Amino acid sequence: MFDFTDLAQNEMHTIRIIGAPFDGTVSFRPGTRFGPAAIREASDGIETYSPLLDCDLESVSYADAGDLELPMGSVDAALSIIKEAVADALGDGAIPFLLGGEHLVSLPAIEAVYEKHPDLVVVQLDAHADQRADYLGVKLSHACVMRRVSEFLGQEHIRQIGIRSGTKDEYELMRAYSTLSTFHEDDLARLRSWIGNRPLYLTVDLDVFDPGVFPGTGTPEPGGIDWWTFQRFLSAIKECDIVGLDAVELAPQLDTSGCSSVLAAKCVREMLLIASK
Ligand code: MN
Ligand code: MN
Repeated sequence: MFDFTDLAQNEMHTIRIIGAPFDGTVSFRPGTRFGPAAIREASDGIETYSPLLDCDLESVSYADAGDLELPMGSVDAALSIIKEAVADALGDGAIPFLLGGEHLVSLPAIEAVYEKHPDLVVVQLDAHADQRADYLGVKLSHACVMRRVSEFLGQEHIRQIGIRSGTKDEYELMRAYSTLSTFHEDDLARLRSWIGNRPLYLTVDLDVFDPGVFPGTGTPEPGGIDWWTFQRFLSAIKECDIVGLDAVELAPQLDTSGCSSVLAAKCVREMLLIASK
C-alpha cells in the first residue's frame, strides 16, 4: 500500500511519507532501523478503507519518498539529513509523515516543522517520558527527545499521553508543567480544546501500546493501551490542523508473529487519513 513514489514524477501531494531507518542511540534492544520497511510490507495486507473514519486511502493524496540513507555511526549527520528531508517536504507544500526508526528521529522533524509553524504544539503518545536531561551523559538519545524538543518549543506547548515510565526527575518536570494527560474521555476533550486551532505535530511512539498487542519494540512497558483506545484518541483529534506526524519505535524482528508490524501499518493508515483532512 505504502510504496515508493518517484517524487520527480509525482504531481502535488498532500502528505509525504519519509522513512528514517535509524536506531543509533537505542538504550536496550536495537532493530527499529528495520521499521519503515516492515510497515510498508505489512501495509500490503490491510484494507485501504477505515471503518472508523469512513475514509479510504485511495482518496488521499500522499507520496512515499522511500527511506533516507542515514549514516549509522554519526548521530549529527543522520539528524541533519532527516531535518533537510522534512524541510524539503514542507517547502513543497506537503505534510511530512516520518516512519522511524527510534524516537530521536522526531527531533529534527519537529525542528523543521517548528521553523515553518512557530505556534506549533506537539502531542506525544508514548510509554516513556523521554524527558531526561541526558542519558548516560548523552543528550541526543531517544530517552531525551521530548526534553530536546522542549528546549526550543517550551514545555507549555507539549502534551504527553500514555506515559507510564520515567525517572523521578522527569515526573517532577512533567507535573510542574502539566504536560501529562490521559485517554479518559474528559481529558481527550480537554486536549482537543487545548490544541484549538494551533498547528499540531503528532508523534506516536508505538510502545504506547501494551506489549501484549505490540511486542515488537525495543523497550516494551507493561500497562499500555489497546487498539480501541488509540481509535478514541484519533476520533478526539481528527479535526485538528495536523502539520507533521510520525510513527516510531517498531522493531519488527522482536515480534516473529508479524502482528506488531501490522498494527504499526494500521496506525499509519489511520494517521494518514486524519492528517489528510
Ligand atoms: Mn519515545
Ligand atoms: Mn517509548
